[in-house]
Amino acid sequence: MKIILIGPPGVGKGTQSQLLQKRYGFKCLSSGDILRQEVVSNSELGRYAKTFLDSGELLPDEVIVNIIMDHLYKIKTNQNFILFDGFPRTKSQAQKLDIKLEEEKTKIDYVIIFEASSSVILSRLEGRLSCSSCGAVYHIKNHPPIQVNVCNHCQSPLFVRTDDQRAAINKRIKLYDSITYPLIEYYVDFGKVHKINAEFSAQDVFKSVCQILDTAL
Ligand code: AMP
Repeated sequence: MKIILIGPPGVGKGTQSQLLQKRYGFKCLSSGDILRQEVVSNSELGRYAKTFLDSGELLPDEVIVNIIMDHLYKIKTNQNFILFDGFPRTKSQAQKLDIKLEEEKTKIDYVIIFEASSSVILSRLEGRLSCSSCGAVYHIKNHPPIQVNVCNHCQSPLFVRTDDQRAAINKRIKLYDSITYPLIEYYVDFGKVHKINAEFSAQDVFKSVCQILDTAL
């Protein structure tokens, strides 16, 4: 089964993705996490990607598509439960992914859209803390770690993403509204879209996601 998670920055895709991996054993391909790992390892790609990540701009389609295709190849496209988080983000990316999956005689089964108002998104992003190692996500007020600035799961240090500053947040929300949101129409045409109100707690949102998936499993 292949699922795409779509939603504005800070809507909780990363948290839902972690819960889904735990419950269903999905392999997760998070384009943002892949890029952040490249930045940390200071690879050529990481140095190239850093300016896009810091400013909240999208990487060019052909670059991100190649990166995702490499990772797909490694996890064997046709065998696994795969969760796409943060990819595709443009129609061109979605079309290229479809072509690749078709070649492998597989397809996207579900597109889950998480929706929340701008004020909820802003308050979540401005207090967000991310784990530098396992990608777990916390919030200073709503979901603080047990020990200050230390990940509950792997004890690595937590950090504030550079793109979680107000200017970059605003740019990311604008890009989502203008470029990624219209992508939903592309998937609606294939009858695959499920919209979820993501303003509730992570556990409640997760229940809604599970209701959708459990009918298919
Ligand atoms: P995310 O963690 O999904 O919010 O992604 C963080 C940043 O990585 C984005 O603001 C972009 O700079 C870059 N990025 C992630 N996924 C994509 C994508 N599918 N297309 C272009 N840029 C991306």
